[in-house]
Amino acid sequence: MLLKQCLAQFEQIYPLKISVDVARLFPIKSKYKDGEILYDRLVLGIIPAVLKHLEDTFESYDVEQIQLNETPCENLNITNYANKLLKSNFHIVFNYEDVDAGYTAYAGVCKADAVTQRPVAAFVYINIRNNVLDDRAFTEQVFTTLLHEIHHGLGFLSSYIPLFWDRDAKQHKALNQVYTSSPSYKVRIKTPGVLKWIRDHYNCQSTSGAPLENMGKQGSQNSHFEATVFGNEVMNPSAFYNLQYTGATIAYMEDMGYFRVLEPKDKMAEILHWGYKKGCGPL
Ligand SMILES: [Zn+2]
Repeated sequence: MLLKQCLAQFEQIYPLKISVDVARLFPIKSKYKDGEILYDRLVLGIIPAVLKHLEDTFESYDVEQIQLNETPCENLNITNYANKLLKSNFHIVFNYEDVDAGYTAYAGVCKADAVTQRPVAAFVYINIRNNVLDDRAFTEQVFTTLLHEIHHGLGFLSSYIPLFWDRDAKQHKALNQVYTSSPSYKVRIKTPGVLKWIRDHYNCQSTSGAPLENMGKQGSQNSHFEATVFGNEVMNPSAFYNLQYTGATIAYMEDMGYFRVLEPKDKMAEILHWGYKKGCGPL
């Protein structure tokens, strides 16, 4: 066995522990009709379910170097969360808006490991107007919306494509190890797990990689799987009913090199019917 493979086996790995700050959601209780119920549904029901889903899916490699110096992020001062960060290995600050706009939520990375750039804190803004909280029938939709957003906060973002971490070489992967381009799609992810998933799912061994979304605004472009190929997969660009959390998203996260998938690796993977065994044509 090579020495570096040997050393890699001794890497510290921890259960993924996510802490949250929901203080900015408190006003929901008084501002809205049945606000207490809406707040409880979100904070005591849906958010803990999303966190449990993530903690059941991933474990975390050691964070090398958190810099807790002041870094404003969406006007949030992360230094205030130092204590929480020390008890968890990922922290999420929730906030909300109430705006007449098309989006349901957005998220991003607040704070990253200084060495690997592995995200350690994220923000999630929920557009309360477009998330139906007063009807239980929509609970799953809000759940998948938040699950989707938190994956952006964990690094599923175009700005993180240059930051896939090679755990053996201890450096970021070269772009040509992460994606390739084709005439139809500028970014096709070709890291081992994602490539295996797309080849198996479509039954197309010759495809060069899984395409990312090439349409939409800058925030959306290359931060999602391509909608026409992935359909209702959870990391497609738009929220709609019946999103599936598949092995593609799980593999993408593991291939980034910051998180390891708990065994058995397909435990949390849902089945995607879209494109299943359709061959190379749609790719
Ligand atoms: Zn998104």
